Amino acid sequence: MRISRRSLLKGAAAAGAAGAVTALAGKAEASEHESKHRPDAVGMLYDSTLCVGCRACVTKCKEANQLPVDQSAMQGTEKAVYDAPSDLNGQTKNIIKVFKDGERFAFMKQQCMHCVEPSCVSVCMMGALHKEGEGTRSFEGENKGTGIVVYDKYTCVGCRYCQIACSFNVPKFEWFDPLPRIVKCELCKHRADKNKTGPLAVANPACCEVCPREAVIYGKREELLAIAKKRIAADPKRYNAKVYGEKEGGGTQVLYLAPASVSFQELGLPELPEHSAASFSEHVSHTPYLHGVTPIALYATAAFLIHRNKKKEEEAEHHEEGK
Ligand code: SF4
Ligand code: SF4
Repeated sequence: MRISRRSLLKGAAAAGAAGAVTALAGKAEASEHESKHRPDAVGMLYDSTLCVGCRACVTKCKEANQLPVDQSAMQGTEKAVYDAPSDLNGQTKNIIKVFKDGERFAFMKQQCMHCVEPSCVSVCMMGALHKEGEGTRSFEGENKGTGIVVYDKYTCVGCRYCQIACSFNVPKFEWFDPLPRIVKCELCKHRADKNKTGPLAVANPACCEVCPREAVIYGKREELLAIAKKRIAADPKRYNAKVYGEKEGGGTQVLYLAPASVSFQELGLPELPEHSAASFSEHVSHTPYLHGVTPIALYATAAFLIHRNKKKEEEAEHHEEGK
């Protein structure tokens, strides 16, 4: 069942913060035990050696997610002439960047990595970010086991903890919107084709559909990992020997192949230990629950933020109706 900001607020007010905490804590504990190994997890494999930097994926992503044009890279010119985002931002969920150092040259695609154990999910006190079908918020109709990190704008209070927590600097905020939301890739879950079976029935990333070089492909994470390893084995001179995302930060569902001459750090991917930051933060944040300490102040703050957002939304609705 979908929980709206309104019902969440009512629930929090009626039952009191302590009651809400108890319910959430129970679910948080349950989520901790949910399988980290998801055989049906989906993801993407980006092969930097195949990418030609055409940016078709950037444009198609915008179209598929109805994101506005971003002319920030054109600042300084008198008139922006085309959509030219220079980085991920409130209008851009997918970006192609370029690394260049003398003769060494490579393209890099950046979007949410759909981490196996995501920090953004771990720090979100409202459960507005969650692994599809898992955790403190799982909505009707969600698939379990896909591992897609989905976002619920109705429960987000705009605290932006997720932005701070993400090692990949992915979640962005709609700074210029009166009702700002977090913006990040959700693997085009809304484009899932329910008439199909397999990965396409759970998501259908527009960037993969449009790439003329198949530099980015979509499928089950386990199969993509096998494909990546096969490519490296077949042509070790072409590739960096590592598949980024297999283990970094606990693993990611978006995997990367880089040219032999370029490191993943040069492509902008952070060097991370094999254990996830989330496993540590979950331990810390769940400890008070285990010892029966109720963080009333935290949830009182959350209730306040929900109330404020609800008021803003109602004002905006009235404004729209009055037009
Ligand atoms: S890349 Fe960042 S936003 Fe995406 S799942 Fe991982 S922690 Fe969350
Ligand atoms: S569509 Fe494919 S080739 Fe073009 S920029 Fe995107 S990933 Fe690279």
